[in-house]
Amino acid sequence: MKKVIIIGAGPGGLAAGMILSAKGYKVHIYEKDACVGGRMQPLKLKDHTFDTGPTFLMEPGTLTHLFELANETLSDHIETVPLDPLYEFIFKDKNFKPTTDQDKMRKEMERVFPAHVVDYFDFLERQDQKHQKLKPLWRSSFSSVFTYFHPLVFRSLFYRDTRSSVFKRLKKRFTDEDLVHAMSFQTKYLGMSPFKAPGMFTILSYLEFSKGLFHVKGGLHQIPIAMKQIIEKNGGRIFLNKPVKRLIIRKKKAYGVAFEDDTVDTAKIIINDTDFSYFAKNLIPKKHQRTYTNRHVNKLKHSLGVFVIYLALDKTYNLEHHTMLFADNPTQSIKTITEQNNLPFDLTIYIHNPSKLDKTLTKEKNHSVLTISVAVPNTTADIDWNTAKNAFRKEIITRIQDKTHINDLEDHIIEEKIITPTEWEKNFNLHHGAAFGLAHTKNQVLHKRPNNRYKDLKHVYLVGAGTHPGGGLMSVFQSAILTTKKITNT
Ligand SMILES: Cc1cc2nc3c(=O)[nH]c(=O)nc-3n(C[C@H](O)[C@H](O)[C@H](O)COP(=O)(O)OP(=O)(O)OC[C@H]3O[C@@H](n4cnc5c(N)ncnc54)[C@H](O)[C@@H]3O)c2cc1C
Repeated sequence: MKKVIIIGAGPGGLAAGMILSAKGYKVHIYEKDACVGGRMQPLKLKDHTFDTGPTFLMEPGTLTHLFELANETLSDHIETVPLDPLYEFIFKDKNFKPTTDQDKMRKEMERVFPAHVVDYFDFLERQDQKHQKLKPLWRSSFSSVFTYFHPLVFRSLFYRDTRSSVFKRLKKRFTDEDLVHAMSFQTKYLGMSPFKAPGMFTILSYLEFSKGLFHVKGGLHQIPIAMKQIIEKNGGRIFLNKPVKRLIIRKKKAYGVAFEDDTVDTAKIIINDTDFSYFAKNLIPKKHQRTYTNRHVNKLKHSLGVFVIYLALDKTYNLEHHTMLFADNPTQSIKTITEQNNLPFDLTIYIHNPSKLDKTLTKEKNHSVLTISVAVPNTTADIDWNTAKNAFRKEIITRIQDKTHINDLEDHIIEEKIITPTEWEKNFNLHHGAAFGLAHTKNQVLHKRPNNRYKDLKHVYLVGAGTHPGGGLMSVFQSAILTTKKITNT
């Protein structure tokens, strides 16, 4: 029986472990934390349950396929709930609730952006074609530049649109900047500014607005919990509270991993699921670093950070599942964060209110959980979060109370936790506290992203946000499909 060691029980590592354990591999997963899920792990504040990171699932088709590859049926393990509306966007002088229901959406567009109704539906149609054309890029593993010579991949290159940015591309179509912001802010899920993210990522808003977003009953962390159960049912083992210290390497080949107490485990297949830059700098001894030396990693571009407030409340609010409270001047706000590496005064705030459709997250029915996230610079910025944290928190809560009907939030908080970029770095081993890992700049996608087969060392593979195709759950699950295909030669 072939043995595989996986470092990290995030969604990427678990997805790979699930497929390989179903295919008869002996799987050992080593996780530094006390639970599985990584950035997607559950967070408990007394009787209130939160998702630490991801708050929605996009394109569940990839996850369904992943479960099929492990001979499982997704719906036997988790219940997905479609969101309608997808969001409430609150702008300075208007609100907008997009939905995948085409009739409802037509009416909503007529109400809010009447000049753009025809353009909007035309956009969806064209993005659908673009999405179909781009699929080969996402499904190929880009082992080398020769991948580009495959006819389907070659054709899809014309749709990459790396010269234009998402914002520019959308601005050509829609003159109303608020609509452009509503359809371009999704680049923040890649940890990037819409002014910098390559034009091909307009498909993100297309995927949301056309295919929908989904909640998972009980929280998204039910996905890693289900994966853990499947791996263990297949005979795989998951070791918690067991951080890997380094890879064991001889003659450019890895043979296992070593732990803090100097014990080891050996295997000839090693998959890394930890943040790529953390892995290259910390788990590969310096003398074995080749392409990805510390100097090289320091030059890579990393995503934004995120400041997250988790609130357990003794009250429920009539807020949509997702509310995006835009800055009065969203363009300036984004530029302050991404170009000046600074905190803006004028904040765009994302509020997640899963208790609206999921009553399992609190013990008391009249309680709720609210997660509030704000994109901020990563830890390369000159911000001392120990001193900035409380004032920034206050600014966020004040703005919510001023700009929405929720004017008593502060009075109903019974438990609270905040995660700043410093903590994302320290507690989640994310280089520079970049919440979304390596950025998706044109020099860090496709064959330029660290490949699923780690090119510096034999026997080593990568899964997760730091390899191809990239960050976000949909891509992370796809990376596990690509990586395990390489391992099993299928
Ligand atoms: C606030 C936030 C919100 C997000 N929202 C969304 C969303 O709504 N939708 C979406 O699709 N994506 C979202 N994401 C992105 C998503 O969470 C990531 O793309 C995904 O978790 C990456 O998975 P991964 O397996 O690559 O890495 P991780 O989830 O980071 O998993 C890596 C694992 O490795 C472990 N590890 C680290 N070092 C060691 C070591 N030395 N030894 C052993 N184990 C180690 C970690 O503990 C962790 O369990 C969000 C992320 C954040 C931070």
